Amino acid sequence: MLLTAGRLSKVLQLTLAVIKPDAVAHPLMMEALHQRILDNKFVVVRCKDLVWRKQDSERFYAEHSGRFFYQRLVEFMSSGPMRAYILAREDAIRHWRELMGPTKVFRARYTSPESIRAQFGLTDTRNTTHGSDSVESAKREIGFFFPDFSVDEWMEKEEPSFRSGR
Ligand code: GDP
Ligand code: MG
Repeated sequence: MLLTAGRLSKVLQLTLAVIKPDAVAHPLMMEALHQRILDNKFVVVRCKDLVWRKQDSERFYAEHSGRFFYQRLVEFMSSGPMRAYILAREDAIRHWRELMGPTKVFRARYTSPESIRAQFGLTDTRNTTHGSDSVESAKREIGFFFPDFSVDEWMEKEEPSFRSGR
C-alpha cells in the first residue's frame, strides 16, 4: 500500500529555468550550470538563448511592480543575453528551486552553501537563475519564453512512458 502511494507521488513535471545575464556573461559559469542541470537528472526539453527588451522584462515580472527592487530587476534582466531551458524530471519545479537555493544570495550562502545562487550569485538582484514556483506559473512562463511549445501536448506524449518506466 505504502509502495503504491510512493509511486503515485512521482509526478513528471516541466519547469522553466533561466540563466540570467550575470551568469551568461561568463562561459565557464554557463558550462558549470549546464553540467549541474544534467547531474541532477533533468532532461533538457528545449533550450534557447535570447535577449529581452525592457518591455519583456516588465511584463514577465509584473507581479513585482512597485517593489523597491523592480526597476533594478527590469534593467538587469534586459541588460544582456539569457539562456532559457524547459526542464523535465519527476517533481521538476521543487528540485530546480532547491538546486537554485534561496532568492537572496547571502541567505543562500548561509543556509544552502551547495546551491547555485550561493556559489555563483553576485547580489540579490544578480542571483544567476530563475525557476518557476508552481505548476501554473511553469505553464505560463514556458508559454512566455517558448510560445510554440505546448505543455499539455508534451505531457500527453511523454507521461505514459515515464509512468511505465520505459
Ligand atoms: P525568485 O522566485 O526566487 O527568483 O524570487 P522572486 O520571485 O521573489 O523575485 C524575482 C527576482 O527579483 C529575484 O530572483 C531577484 O532577482 C529579484 N529580487 C527579489 N527580491 C529581491 C530583493 O529583496 N532585493 C533585490 N535587489 N532583488 C530582489
Ligand atoms: Mg519568483
